[in-house]
Order: sequence, then C-alpha cells, then structure tokens
Amino acid sequence: MGDRLKSERVPYLTSRLQGFGESIFAEMSALAISTNSINLGQGFPDTDGPLEISEAAIAAIREGHNQYPPGVGIPALREQIAAHQRHFYDLTYDPDTEVLVTAGATEAIAASLLALVEVGDEVVMFEPYFDAYAGCAAMSGATRKVVTLNPPDYWFNFDALREAVTDKTRILLLNSPHNPTGKVFTRDELESIAEICVERDLIVISDEVYEHLTFDDNQHIPIATLPGMRDRTITISSAGKTFSFTGWKIGWACAPAPLLNAVRNAKQFLTYVNGAPFQHAIAFALSLPDHYYAELATDLQKRRDQLCEGLERVGFDVFSPGGTYFVTADISLLGEADGLEFCRRLPVRCGVVAVPNIAFYDNEAAGRSLVRFAFCKKPEVLDEAIGRLMVLKRS
Ligand code: GLN
Repeated sequence: MGDRLKSERVPYLTSRLQGFGESIFAEMSALAISTNSINLGQGFPDTDGPLEISEAAIAAIREGHNQYPPGVGIPALREQIAAHQRHFYDLTYDPDTEVLVTAGATEAIAASLLALVEVGDEVVMFEPYFDAYAGCAAMSGATRKVVTLNPPDYWFNFDALREAVTDKTRILLLNSPHNPTGKVFTRDELESIAEICVERDLIVISDEVYEHLTFDDNQHIPIATLPGMRDRTITISSAGKTFSFTGWKIGWACAPAPLLNAVRNAKQFLTYVNGAPFQHAIAFALSLPDHYYAELATDLQKRRDQLCEGLERVGFDVFSPGGTYFVTADISLLGEADGLEFCRRLPVRCGVVAVPNIAFYDNEAAGRSLVRFAFCKKPEVLDEAIGRLMVLKRS
C-alpha cells in the first residue's frame, strides 16, 4: 500500500502486520457515517438480494439449522456449488472432496495462503490488489511481489510477470473480474498467465467473486478451465456479490482433492464453520434459474453506465469497467493530483465518499491520482451523488 497510508507502530501487533494500518474501507465508511455522505466507497449493494433467499434463511433458522454445520459445509450447498461450476464452466468437482464452504471468499484466500506458503515464499499478485491479499499474504509469512496493471485498459507486461516469478515463488494470486479496476482478464491474457504457471509449477489462487458481474461482451473465464490449470488452481467465489448478501459471508473454494484437503486443514483452525442457516439459503439461491444471473448483470450494467456518464460530465477521466461493482477514475483533469487527500476531503466538500486506489498499490506513482467509486447503489442514489460531485466541475 502507499507509504502515506502506513500507520504508526501499533503496540503489541506482530511485525508481520505492522504498517498496514486501518483498512481504507473502514476509514472511508466511518467518514461516510460521520459526515452523512453517500457512500460510494465500500462495495456493498444498498438493496438486499431476492426476498425468497432471505425467506429461505429465516425458514432454515425456524427449522432448527442453528448448530455447527459440517466442517466442509452442508452437503446440499457443496452439491449446488459443484453443479454451478459444471453448469457455467464445465468444471467438474466432487462435492465431497473438492468443495469447501468458507466464511466468505476472504477466509478461503487466507486459508489457502496459510495452508500452502512457507515463511519466505513469494506470492505474485497484480496491483492494484484487494487489500486482504496483502494482509493474508503477510500473515502467512510470504513476501508479496506485484506486477502493475496499467490504465486505461489495465494491460500488463508479460515480461514483468515472468520476471516477478523467482525460485521462491509458490503462488500466483489472480482476481478476475478484478477489484478495484473492473478489468475482466481476456482469454489471451489468461493463457499467457497459465503458461508461466505451468512452466514454473505455481499454484494459482483465483478469486472470482465478481464472476457473474460482467458487462457488454466481456466473458468471465475461470483460469482452471485452461489446459494444465485445473490441477494447480484453487477457484474461490462467494454468495455475497452474486446474490447481494455481502454480510452473510458464505464463500467457497473448489480444487483438486489434495489441494483442497490442505486448505481445509488450515480453515478448520480459522472460523472452523460459519453461517449454518445461511448455507441452506445459499444452497437454495444457487438453484435459481439462469435468468437471475443475466438480470443481475444487465441491471448493474445500467448503473455502471449511469455512474460513468455522470463522472465524465463532472470532468473525471473515467476507465469504464468490463465487470465488478467498481469504476476507477483519474482526478488529474479536475486539477487534482493526490487521490488520498482528495478522498479524505470529498465528504466535506460535497457529501460523497470514494476510495483512493493508492491503498491498493505498492508503487505510489501508479495509483496516486486514481479513485474508485462503487455503482452497486440505487439509481436515485447515484443521481444524487453525481449532482453533488458537480461542485468539482471546472468552469
Ligand atoms: N470487497 C468490498 C470492496 O472492495 C468490501 C471490502 C471490505 O470492506 N473489506 O469494497
């Protein structure tokens, strides 16, 4: 993360976690509350998912599904996760030995790193990166190596990726569709990444939580579907983004049995299990027909267009995303240079909260003028936010 976000030394805290400070999401969401601003920072929908899914959770509580579920997750949910992977991607996993239910995708990532990494191993990831990747890698004792994605389309240099992989590299951590950029990695890009992973015998941890949030002709391709990759990939996703229940924290990992078994060994000492009634509700959610997913993406695409068009009118340089909840914008055209300072002042200037992308970079210069806005909000909320942001427009 950018140096200026690094906090003072925190008493008692292990050296592994010194310097991370408070998460940017916690800081910005607290600012949104204290200034009564519209929160386009943290990525959570302001409308809950389908009522029938909530009703399924309530029914599960009433039916008495309130004690520890099995450590790997309830059978019905594991079966539905396996069916989902088969239906959408033609990926086959045995629900009993190759699927693990976790406390959100973040626990699956943490458990994977803790299970697979020796202290001093290197983990390669793209920057900007979701902050938990850096935190979980640090907790596992790994060293992070980053390869920069460059706007406007967030391309990366394959030679830089090749050079980032050393004899100490054990894991490549991939995220597509990508937070915070909204990039959906193309088949060509994934094939080149896969080539390096096979050549250097890397394990891939693939965070695919935005898998159903893709727009236009962008198509989500799980890297596990590419030749040579299924056996070396842990595919991770969650119900939070797909069904708009981010607070339920039901996630999962799919991997070949030996890899999954290792992850499960670490996971059992983290949360052990979580969310028994929610597991039942998400098993039901995963049985919804295909048009549910299509409508989710179509609806979100409209809101992407609404926010991108509004931000352009304000005068931002907007990098329209191919997927996710997020759009990144450059503030330079507004006469601003420092995204962190800009985001800290924005609530007071006009009652809107965004997130400075510098929080997701090691290389300060690359992310300094970039800020992220979330568009998973009601159209009228986005309109109000755009109206408020108009004070930034240069005459
Ligand atoms: N994934 C969400 C985001 O990027 C929430 C992150 C969080 O609050 N830790 O905004």
